Amino acid sequence: MDVSRRPRIAPVEESLDPSDWTELRALSHRIADDAIAYLRDVRERPVWQEMPVGVRATFETELPRSPAPLAEIYREVAENVMPYPMGNIHPRFWSWYMGSSNFTGALADFLAAIQGSNLGGGNHAAALIDNQVVSWCKEMIGFPASASGTLVSGGSMANLIGLTVARNAKAGTDVRETGVAAIEKPLRFYASDQVHSCHRKALEALGLGNRALRRIPTDADLRIDLASLQKAIAEDREAGFRPACVIGTAGTVNTGAIDDLEALADLAAQEDLWFHVDGCIGALITIAPKNSYRVTGIERADSLALDPHKWLHAPFEIGCVLVRDAPAHHRSFAVTPEYLESTPRGLASGPWLHEYGLQTTRGFRALKVWMALKEHGVEKFGRLIDQNIAQGCYLTDLIEAEPLLELVAPTTINIVCYRYRSDGIDGEALKAINTEIMLRLQEEGTAAISDTTVHGEHCLRVAINNHRTRQDDLDLLVRETVRLGHEIARTTTST
Ligand SMILES: *Cc1c(COP(=O)(O)O)cnc(C)c1O
Repeated sequence: MDVSRRPRIAPVEESLDPSDWTELRALSHRIADDAIAYLRDVRERPVWQEMPVGVRATFETELPRSPAPLAEIYREVAENVMPYPMGNIHPRFWSWYMGSSNFTGALADFLAAIQGSNLGGGNHAAALIDNQVVSWCKEMIGFPASASGTLVSGGSMANLIGLTVARNAKAGTDVRETGVAAIEKPLRFYASDQVHSCHRKALEALGLGNRALRRIPTDADLRIDLASLQKAIAEDREAGFRPACVIGTAGTVNTGAIDDLEALADLAAQEDLWFHVDGCIGALITIAPKNSYRVTGIERADSLALDPHKWLHAPFEIGCVLVRDAPAHHRSFAVTPEYLESTPRGLASGPWLHEYGLQTTRGFRALKVWMALKEHGVEKFGRLIDQNIAQGCYLTDLIEAEPLLELVAPTTINIVCYRYRSDGIDGEALKAINTEIMLRLQEEGTAAISDTTVHGEHCLRVAINNHRTRQDDLDLLVRETVRLGHEIARTTTST
């Protein structure tokens, strides 16, 4: 190489570290103070508010080319970002299905980023904590210590990992090597018609296709109908398919219904199917003393997805998949390229955590669960789950006592489906009124709820996965639904 073209090292190298650590410390302390006040006062702010045009415009500026002081940038975040959250840390956020986060988890995310370790694996403390959190998940669910598991971004990824192991175990061929085209009989997976949409995406990504997931009708309580399931399996065998896996849901996203997991485990054993449980909502009910009986049988799953960023309120993101047959799990993902070979000692002698999923680089997401569990103890998290379920029951009672409201689905746990009703109004007109109630509750900053359709009926949906919700928040919701319903019904019927 021409010596004159060798890159020269600049006399003073640059880095991303600050030139003045004292100034950074002062600013960081201010940010921490602001963050604490933000969380302390969350109840005083609207759940959600629309962003002014001027604020939106600040997110369309050009790629920054020259530096700016961090204090300036923080001012922008404080003014334009922090006042416009999704709202899920607010005590009256009950939309879709989320968690409400916690300060310790946020500190943990900060410390994880400061330490900066990569959880692809290796011999370091973070890797042991990652393993320990997976072990604690097994213990909470009642899985054997010999099971394996991995922490992922959330429930969707956890289900994808579990279903991948199921496919590979039931394919009857080395599907990793030969691909799905070599599977002799097309595989069939079964779940109720209430199954979460991530399973469809998983089957598509696994090359099996949406049609490989048969949706089985549900009973009046929105639980998978076992006779229909049995019939579908028999039909498929007859038609030359290979029934491979049944997915039980412990807490459906629409109504919180819990499939009969004990019966599904029996049926899977009888039919030689893989038994996967989507426990993103309800798996952790195992730690709630008053309600754990609802998920009996969950410990018999071959694989299970749970979501610590829901009922453990970890800041996003963290999901977890557990697999009973640890070697089957490892066989589904392990690849050891030369640059990731283990050594007998040193940094590369630790566990290779990337061999249990799709990511190579993995973040230190375990710390936020580890610190919060140590701080509060698992029993408190169990009581908080019981508390949310009791609140679901309380709200249900309020609705049943109010003639202008009606329940649209039975409440099992913490999800309540209801609607405003008014004599002589039904169908699309009723849907329009209820949709308008939902939007005004959001726009007035009172509460965030969502809507859904259950067995063909449109309804409002309240999912109380929130450690900040109090009884009077639910009283307010009922009062406001009735007030808004009245107001909207009056203006729509008079025009
Ligand atoms: C939330 C949820 C999922 C998806 O989990 P993410 O963490 O959002 O990826 C899957 N199944 C059920 C039942 C859920 O409630």
